[in-house]
Amino acid sequence: MSLKSRAFFRSTIFRLTAQYSLIFISSALILFLLAYSLLSDAVREGDRLAMAQKVREYASIALKRGLPALVEFIRMEREDFDSDEYYLRLDAPDGQPLTQISPSDAAPLPNDLPRDLGPGIQWTFLPQPEGKGLIELACRSLPDGGMVYMGKDASDRERLLRQFRIIFAGIMALVALVGLTAGFLLARRTLKPIQGLIDTVRAIDTGRMDARVPDEGADDELNELARLFNAMLDKIKSLISGMREALDNVAHDLRTPATRTLAAVEMAASTKSDPEALREALLDCAEETRRIVSMLGILMDISEAETGAMRLHLGRTDMAALIAEMVEIYQYVAEEKGVLLAVAPMDRLPVTADADRMRQVLGNLLDNAVKYTPAGGRVDVSAWRAGGAVAVRVADSGEGIVADDIPRIFDRLYRADKSRSQRGLGLGLSLVRAVLHAHGGGIDVQSAPGKGSLFTFTLPAAADAAAG
Ligand code: ADP
Repeated sequence: MSLKSRAFFRSTIFRLTAQYSLIFISSALILFLLAYSLLSDAVREGDRLAMAQKVREYASIALKRGLPALVEFIRMEREDFDSDEYYLRLDAPDGQPLTQISPSDAAPLPNDLPRDLGPGIQWTFLPQPEGKGLIELACRSLPDGGMVYMGKDASDRERLLRQFRIIFAGIMALVALVGLTAGFLLARRTLKPIQGLIDTVRAIDTGRMDARVPDEGADDELNELARLFNAMLDKIKSLISGMREALDNVAHDLRTPATRTLAAVEMAASTKSDPEALREALLDCAEETRRIVSMLGILMDISEAETGAMRLHLGRTDMAALIAEMVEIYQYVAEEKGVLLAVAPMDRLPVTADADRMRQVLGNLLDNAVKYTPAGGRVDVSAWRAGGAVAVRVADSGEGIVADDIPRIFDRLYRADKSRSQRGLGLGLSLVRAVLHAHGGGIDVQSAPGKGSLFTFTLPAAADAAAG
């Protein structure tokens, strides 16, 4: 057997075809057998009924009036008897035939007929002499030991039944063929989404990332699986392209400080004996290296926070106090820029959080708000308790964010085009969101170009504070 045909016999499509066809063919076979047995019974019953009635009549005469009377009765009846159809024989208790009738063109019944068959009428088939056919024989033991036999040529009937059997066998062969074909088509149709799945996985394996399982449109589980598989592939594709984009951005953003460092080193190398120039080149190198280290540090922080590996030093801390502390730090930067930084009055707002990470969150939001608000604008910070959470809002009257950028500002290294003139790595908001998620909180932004931005984040309140 070739490898290919061996694989076919092991395939699910073969197994399903075999199972479907087996059920189909065996049900049809059972139905045909039932129909045949009913039909043959019905055909035989007609003949048997007439013979049985007659044999019973003879037995009752023998019982009531004795064998000689029965012989006489048969003799009287002989004229009317349809001798062309039936065999009749009456045997004495010693086995000698008392009377015998047979169809005109047939030999009489043979002598070695079955005897002492038990009560009631027993049915048997006798082969006709010279292989002409079969005689169906009704045998009945009589009370005093005699026997009455009545028979009829059953060859025509049996020939008819044999023809039925041949026709049934032919139909069964056809049914088997239809069953096999239908089974195969059904199995292939059922497995089509699976085949699509296999083809798609193979195509992806060869690098065709855009391959998808064809949607058959049906509303069954296999098509649902195909649709879910396609959705998963779309998600993986967008994740991969997101990762590629992030990697491109990291490479791009690392290149600038690395190129500057290289330039500073080369310049220092070409400076023969000016210690001041050398010192400046070293300071430039240190500055650029610090940028690289800080960028890598933030990238790692974001990854850790997103994967749940960030180690948080959780403790009960007052958000209102943290806000006051960070606002005081940024007050100086805001004043320098001519931006008004105001805090709404607030009560204590206990949260369970890592205070340093919260300073980072507030610092990034305040830094952005002041950075993206032109002189004369204002930044307002407010916070309140909202059910089991504490909400903090940093609102500015700055340049705002265009709608297309809003879903992307939390992506790593994403910076809106018009923000490129400002200093920044495009990592601040990614870190803010990752840290808040690690704390079980979240962040939301509302913004419109020219109208300012409104960043609101929430954190679960400290347990007893939430209850109070
Ligand atoms: P960056 O270092 O560029 O500030 P962030 O991750 O903090 O990086 O912010 C991502 C981008 O979101 C910014 O480049 C800027 O385009 C936009 N953005 C963030 N905060 C504000 C704000 N308060 N007003 C306007 N744009 C903002």
